Amino acid sequence: MSWLPTLIKACYFLAALLFILGLKRMSSPRTARGGIVWAGVGMLLAVLATFALPGMHNRGLILAAVVIGVSAAWWTGRRVAMTAMPQMVALYNGMGGGAAAAIGAVELLGFAAAAHVSFAMSAQVGGGVSVGDTFSYRQLPDAAPLWLALVGALIGAVSFSGSMVAFAKLQGWMDKRFVFPGQRLLNLAVLVLAVACLVAIGNDLLLPWLIAAFFVLALLFGLMMTLPIGGADMPVVISLYNAFTGLAVAFEGFVLGNEAMIIAGMVVGAAGTLLTQLMAKAMNRSIGNVLFGSFGAVAGGAAQTIEGAQKPIEASDAAVMMAYAERVVIVPGYGMAVAQAQHKVWEFAKLLISRGVKVKFAIHPVAGRMPGHMNVLLAEAGVPYDLIADMDDINPEFPNTDVALVIGANDVVNPVAKTDPASPIYGMPILDVSLAKNVIVIKRGRGTGFAGIENALFYADNTRMLYGDGQAAAGELVTQLKSIDG
Ligand code: NDP
Repeated sequence: MSWLPTLIKACYFLAALLFILGLKRMSSPRTARGGIVWAGVGMLLAVLATFALPGMHNRGLILAAVVIGVSAAWWTGRRVAMTAMPQMVALYNGMGGGAAAAIGAVELLGFAAAAHVSFAMSAQVGGGVSVGDTFSYRQLPDAAPLWLALVGALIGAVSFSGSMVAFAKLQGWMDKRFVFPGQRLLNLAVLVLAVACLVAIGNDLLLPWLIAAFFVLALLFGLMMTLPIGGADMPVVISLYNAFTGLAVAFEGFVLGNEAMIIAGMVVGAAGTLLTQLMAKAMNRSIGNVLFGSFGAVAGGAAQTIEGAQKPIEASDAAVMMAYAERVVIVPGYGMAVAQAQHKVWEFAKLLISRGVKVKFAIHPVAGRMPGHMNVLLAEAGVPYDLIADMDDINPEFPNTDVALVIGANDVVNPVAKTDPASPIYGMPILDVSLAKNVIVIKRGRGTGFAGIENALFYADNTRMLYGDGQAAAGELVTQLKSIDG
């Protein structure tokens, strides 16, 4: 079957094309759903082709693992609530990093065994080797992949344990900001030790205990690097681990000589890197600051106390206010996702538009719990793209806005990000909602946002609170608006 390797390469090529074209289609909400299917078909093709690889062992075991993995993913994927999607993304992303690290571990132990055998053989044939001599791994023909396996394993292990912490934080299982004195120094020490192990192993010290220590340190570093990240900085770290996983898979693809892994890993690595840059820009931080700065930690001093009281409003009054407004900007946030209120919100917006009100939707890059969260929800509801504005475009328009309707957004509209240096979100760019002539905020009560802090906007003179679940409140606004004469 001399044609088999060519067929496998052709399948990998086609899979790579499908990954890239699928990713391209994901860049617009219009074509994103199709893009996911294309990339999925590419992945299926790559997996099937891999099964046919000559010299493939343990097909039964691999099949069993695939069946377990697919069943678990199918079951959880169908059951997961839209609001729990970010956790699931973090979890699956971590699994990718973990898989790459596991490949690295198997390869490294394989290299260690091969080095051991070669050393024993050269001693046996009397190749001038005596007990106590060190064996240079580079004498083996496969020396180059050793470094690649090591780097891939380090990145994959960091991504695995880091993503698990991100998952636990998003799931609400652990404290969002876990900080203690000397934390950064300790993190640095763990990283230095992990890299020292990597260098030692790469320079022929292929000892199983050292390999084990290397993995423990790499996993520990991922864990410790993510622990202090809280406040509003999670989006950056989530996309960073996404990039890490892609890179780790690409490195291990080189080790295995598998083109599909190399290309898929590079595509994910590149996309993740771009996303990380975008997210870091959205949070007004450099990547270096994200990794080694006082990321999400309180900058020192007590946070300012917020004076005043929250002033409630009835849906009927809010509806009248917006019915007679010239411009209304709707600002969705995580609460809209929780309430699944996007359809009602769009119905309300359409009614306003039919009355001649100019309506826009303002999207903050980190609103919700995953990049693009709000865009996905609004696209699902059918909101036309030309009504959706990015933060930089909409901010200058707030002073000319009669009513800003905030639904389930909190951190992304909190003015303390500009005014209080002691706040954990200080420096994060926000939607300048407080500059609108009137602000109406829909939320259930006095719950804080992801960063867990009070919001000065809710106490401002021009703000009125419309308490209630997002969907119920938007539905009530629709009912009230319909009862107002055109
Ligand atoms: P926030 O998490 O700051 O606030 C959400 C608000 O929604 C809460 O104050 C809550 O108040 C309200 N809410 C919850 N459920 C409902 C409901 N059913 N109906 C109405 N309101 C509801 O959301 P933002 O979108 O403003 O900010 C996102 C935050 O998440 C940022 O800090 C960001 O950094 C972080 N993050 C973002 C990620 C991303 O990739 N986009 C990833 C991880 C974190 P109440 O309980 O009173 O109703």
